[in-house]
Amino acid sequence: METIAPFIEVIDEIKQAGGEVFKLCFQCGLCDTVCPWNKVRPFSMRRIIREAAFGLTEIEGEDIWRCTTCGNCPSHCPRGVKQIDISVALRRVATEYEVFPASVRSARTARASLISEGNPLQGERKKRSDWAKELPVKLYEEGMEALYFVGCYLSYDPRMKKVAAATANILNSAGIDFGILGSKENCCGESIRKTGSEELFKRLARENIKTFIDNGIKKIIVSSPHCFHTFKNEYPDFMVNFEVVHMSQYLLDLINEGRLELKGDLEKKVTYHDPCYLGRHNGIYDEPREVLKKISGLELVEMSDSDKNSLCCGGGGGRIWMDTPKEERFSDLRLKQARQTGAEILVTACPYCITNFEESRLNLEYEDAMEIKDITEIINDML
Ligand code: SF4
Ligand code: SF4
Repeated sequence: METIAPFIEVIDEIKQAGGEVFKLCFQCGLCDTVCPWNKVRPFSMRRIIREAAFGLTEIEGEDIWRCTTCGNCPSHCPRGVKQIDISVALRRVATEYEVFPASVRSARTARASLISEGNPLQGERKKRSDWAKELPVKLYEEGMEALYFVGCYLSYDPRMKKVAAATANILNSAGIDFGILGSKENCCGESIRKTGSEELFKRLARENIKTFIDNGIKKIIVSSPHCFHTFKNEYPDFMVNFEVVHMSQYLLDLINEGRLELKGDLEKKVTYHDPCYLGRHNGIYDEPREVLKKISGLELVEMSDSDKNSLCCGGGGGRIWMDTPKEERFSDLRLKQARQTGAEILVTACPYCITNFEESRLNLEYEDAMEIKDITEIINDML
């Protein structure tokens, strides 16, 4: 086990990479109390911060790659420490030295695919809009009401393509004049940035921004909270501002404006999981619940960790591409919480959450007990 230190240049690199706020930490340990990792195995963000302050970080270990950037510890920290920035800064240092533990290697494959094809799933760029082949979905043209930015998982992943199709059907049903970018769409870059690949994030972001500007795009509808977060909060660093709407917000607008009419009843118990990048990172808790309450007959029940305290699915911070042992998956815990409410459907609004939950549903043999749905799917079923 090699430890770098006490290496003044590592401290400087962490500072340069945006982690200088670690000095505020007074080691109270609250971050460890609220971190979901400690529900499945020992992990100490407090210790990482302490070691980083002295340049003693063990950059070749697994721990600097664990944070899912769920946002729970920053929201509780009494000193305003930006734990996520520190994690990302350490990953940038490890990326620069090309030091990666075994569990991170699959994230390197995702990175290579992003460089060559603009998505992390090794899908061919030219096949990005294949999900829409048989559907009435147009390419974006200047003057359209909105761009639907589909995102990588909804473009390529077989399970998530169903969510893209449901979304397109809803937009068409509501009479929205929308288009997609097809093979001109690139990954938003949010998650690869959190793994420390800053230059690749910038490249993806610049290419997307150029495409948005070249096509005269003003309003962007997104399905992924990760796209939402980065377009809304990170792309403005490139001196641009687009109107970005997450589909869960847009659904509420469409229903309230009478553009979308829901038919029939759904006599089911449903629980809603707040994705970290919609809830804690962007404060969108009410709109998805309001949308679900519009469904006649539906009974909405809450899980034990919900709203601001939502339990992370485990997929943020690039962890969606990393290997997590079965017994350490937060998504298994989340499904057990959902089961305890008696819910027949677990609804969420994020491709990473759905991917992890579907896997846990199989692992836990909950196939007959519970369905996992994106919010667009449950609404699409009511049209
Ligand atoms: S909660 Fe904040 S102050 Fe307390 S140990 Fe964690 S980072 Fe430090
Ligand atoms: S952001 Fe979430 S996963 Fe990361 S250290 Fe904090 S509580 Fe743990």
